Amino acid sequence: MADIEAIPFDNSYARLPDRFYARLAPTPVAEPGLIRLNEPLARHLGLDPENLKTSDGIAMLAGNHVPDGAAPLAMVYAGHQFGGWVPQLGDGRAILLGELIGSDGLRYDLQLKGAGRTPYSRGGDGRAWLGPVLREYILSEAMAALGIPTTRALAAVTTADRVIRELLYPGAVLTRIARSHLRVGTFQYFAARRDDDALMRLADYAIDRHDPDLKHVENPYLALLEAVVHRQAELVIRWLSVGFIHGVMNTDNMTISGETIDYGPCAFMDAYNPDRVFSSIDQYGRYAYQQQPAVAQWNLTQLATSLLPLIDNDRDTAATLAKDALGQFSEHFNTGWEQALRQKIGLAIEERTDLDLAHRLLTLMAENEADFTLVFRTLSDLAIEADITADQAFLDLFKAPHRAVEWLSDWRRRLGQETRSDLERQAHMKRINPAYIPRNHRVEDAIQAGLRDDFTPFEILIDVLSRPFDDQPDKKAYQAPPKPEEQVRKTFCGT
Ligand code: AMP
Ligand code: MG
Repeated sequence: MADIEAIPFDNSYARLPDRFYARLAPTPVAEPGLIRLNEPLARHLGLDPENLKTSDGIAMLAGNHVPDGAAPLAMVYAGHQFGGWVPQLGDGRAILLGELIGSDGLRYDLQLKGAGRTPYSRGGDGRAWLGPVLREYILSEAMAALGIPTTRALAAVTTADRVIRELLYPGAVLTRIARSHLRVGTFQYFAARRDDDALMRLADYAIDRHDPDLKHVENPYLALLEAVVHRQAELVIRWLSVGFIHGVMNTDNMTISGETIDYGPCAFMDAYNPDRVFSSIDQYGRYAYQQQPAVAQWNLTQLATSLLPLIDNDRDTAATLAKDALGQFSEHFNTGWEQALRQKIGLAIEERTDLDLAHRLLTLMAENEADFTLVFRTLSDLAIEADITADQAFLDLFKAPHRAVEWLSDWRRRLGQETRSDLERQAHMKRINPAYIPRNHRVEDAIQAGLRDDFTPFEILIDVLSRPFDDQPDKKAYQAPPKPEEQVRKTFCGT
């Protein structure tokens, strides 16, 4: 395979007009050191891991060396942050090095996060520190292993520079891989400037990159909106089904590709609470667990508004078409979420009362502060015949188990209508309900150890989370919720 200079970058975004970005190279860092390279992902991108581990490779991953084929740039975008309009944001601490075609034939962005100041940095220093870099690596790779669309982590690098936050922290750079970094906010940026030419270029670019099949339909821009609506509805269903709270669903953090992006204040819930919020800056619970479908829809409304000039020349016609497209969110979400719940409790046949059965369980879980992940995983172990010891493990998850006993017997009655064997159902449930999620206290441990220059907990955690659906008998401790003194109640933006 090729050396760093021969990496076959193909930089399509850099071929868009100048007003889409600012061209600039990353600002070098002191003494870059590789923490971890995602070797399977590197190979998927056609990169030789051995090459990336050389000093030239690490220099590229740190932003100290720009290979010949790269076309480094910072993308401009706008966005609504917590509902408030910000007319210009952009990559303030990230630089797109270029794009690569993966072994699947798909195009991927290779972006360095923490690469220094850009014209969009506003007051920021353009840097990332070790904590958020390790967090994003762990969380995004865990999401990928759960089969949920997400940006990925190719590499994490430490630097000898110190980054000033509440304290001084070691600097770090994350190499982020994404199907693209197009956001709802990218469309908003040009729409707000009434730059219809740029808007059309951007929409055509998005269609080429994410929905090439739509190029020849009657109204490609409406179809693009519908495609994003469907992808985002699907994504939120997948988040909810594993107890994930994104935490900062601003329109600049919502992708056109349907990938999860921005692992700042996100968290997986331990005890189920539909109103759960982790982010220290989300004071009003705008981005709470169960708000996520509504917020996604709100964000998509901003995308629809931006696309109006392209959807139809007549404003009213455009609005009617866009409204219909947005209406598909609820349909898609409701059907998909119902199906997800049915699968989580092991039902393959559709019955009218299934949703009620699932909701009763969720209510009991909330009332009893039951662990979201363990309830569904433990339920997979239960057979249609009651077994006192097996049942006990499930019931122990509820503070007051008597109503869970009732629920179990109703569940078993319902299982009587199923045609699958216990074994088939269990196998299926175990592919839906993970045993391992990136629990906050484990992530925090890995970060704290990393700050002491010990990356072993980080490595172990990534390894455990790479097989979230497998029973890993020697890693049972990683399934456990935090003890009261280990609980992480708040998360902070990864700045
Ligand atoms: P985020 O909260 O990560 O979605 O970032 C929101 C905006 O702030 C984006 O435009 C970022 O590029 C910018 N930003 C975040 N952190 C920094 C930083 N340390 N330096 C410069 N810009 C930043
Ligand atoms: Mg962001």
